[in-house]
Amino acid sequence: MKPLTLAGTVSVVTLGCEKNTVDSEVLMGHLRRRGLTLVADPEDAETIIVNTCGFIDHAKKESIDAILEATELKRAAAGDGRVTRVLVAGCLSERYRSDLEVEIPEVDGFFGTQDFERILSVMSGGRSSDAFDPKLDLVGERVITTPRHYAYMKISEGCDHPCSFCAIPIMRGGHRSRPIEELEFEAMMLASNGAKEIVLIAQDLTYYGLDNYGTRSLSKLLERLCRVNGVEWIRLMYAYPAQFPLDVLDVMAGEEKIVKYLDMPVQHASTSVLKHMRRGITRRATEDIVGQIRERIPGIALRTTLITGFPTESEHDFEELEQFVSEMQFDRLGVFTYSQEEGTTAYPLGDPISAEEKFQRQRRLYEIQAEVSEEKNLERVGSTERVLIERVEDGYYFGRSRFDAPEVDEQIRIAASDDRAISIGEFAQVQITSVADVEAEYELDAVLL
Ligand code: SF4
Repeated sequence: MKPLTLAGTVSVVTLGCEKNTVDSEVLMGHLRRRGLTLVADPEDAETIIVNTCGFIDHAKKESIDAILEATELKRAAAGDGRVTRVLVAGCLSERYRSDLEVEIPEVDGFFGTQDFERILSVMSGGRSSDAFDPKLDLVGERVITTPRHYAYMKISEGCDHPCSFCAIPIMRGGHRSRPIEELEFEAMMLASNGAKEIVLIAQDLTYYGLDNYGTRSLSKLLERLCRVNGVEWIRLMYAYPAQFPLDVLDVMAGEEKIVKYLDMPVQHASTSVLKHMRRGITRRATEDIVGQIRERIPGIALRTTLITGFPTESEHDFEELEQFVSEMQFDRLGVFTYSQEEGTTAYPLGDPISAEEKFQRQRRLYEIQAEVSEEKNLERVGSTERVLIERVEDGYYFGRSRFDAPEVDEQIRIAASDDRAISIGEFAQVQITSVADVEAEYELDAVLL
């Protein structure tokens, strides 16, 4: 077969969370600046870069499968000019590089989470002078892979918290906040690119500024971001509950642009389990902070995540968690089953609770939450909401309200009207008419106002 000429083409495959998505977007922006051509289909690329996730078992398996798929493409394409190189980056590679080098020798290079410049150097033909160039590498430049109307913005990297179950600090290092000016500039670039909603992400948003400004500075950052023209919604994901900076609530309450939504992972309710998890908070303090948030921002949509099957979680602890879920009435809930991770401080506690029991507990929590969600959705019927339109399908618009974060939350289905056309990425006022069937891929029905 005649060799294809794919020189300089690269495809980046991204696994894991939206923080990894942002890393890939930044990497792609810099690759493009160096004259490389980005292609969506790995089969059409000379180089495949797999940006992996190493969070928990399931995520690790997905990443390994993606690496194997890439090396298989390289093997199958031998000699025809396609896929001549596979590089692996990201969390899994950071954590298990030496094992992976032995297990998957077909990979041409493994890079960790902080090897960004080394990847650029390799992709630039190994010239160290090409690794990073302040003239070439504009701060905040990214190839956005999310729909044009929203973008994630990572305000800090790494984590200083000592949560005993979590391997993220091993893979991502300690907390490093980005300067406010840099983030403000990035937000302007995102807005000029069409982003109306900016979703702030970090391992812990509330820690922002402690390292570089010597004080928690999320509220200051929010005030600055609210001044960026074109940005209409700012959404906060991942706020650690212990020592939550209350001044953030004042800014949230006072600034129109900040959607009244907060993702605050509490992980558990039993004080005993929280202690073993090293979360630095008790059940009472968790309830207290949730109460304060609701008091200062009435109607706020609260999302949280929980873990079932932590090694010390007794049936009694779990019943306490059930009661907590029922009482706290979170708007959104995600439940993970515990995954024993090497290198964490909880690792020596073993993994005594069976997978079946963990899933059973997860299911029990979701059942309680389903009732909470149904009640909350019923309360929304008749209300007027501002919705960001995300897609059009079969005579309906689908959009998200302030209650709904991209990718993790539900959508609202809105009946299209003949005399009004709305584009994807536009805002619309709608009235909620009914709650959708539980099987539906959207949550509520609405009509345009
Ligand atoms: S806050 Fe805790 S759970 Fe979250 S990334 Fe940091 S150590 Fe992990």
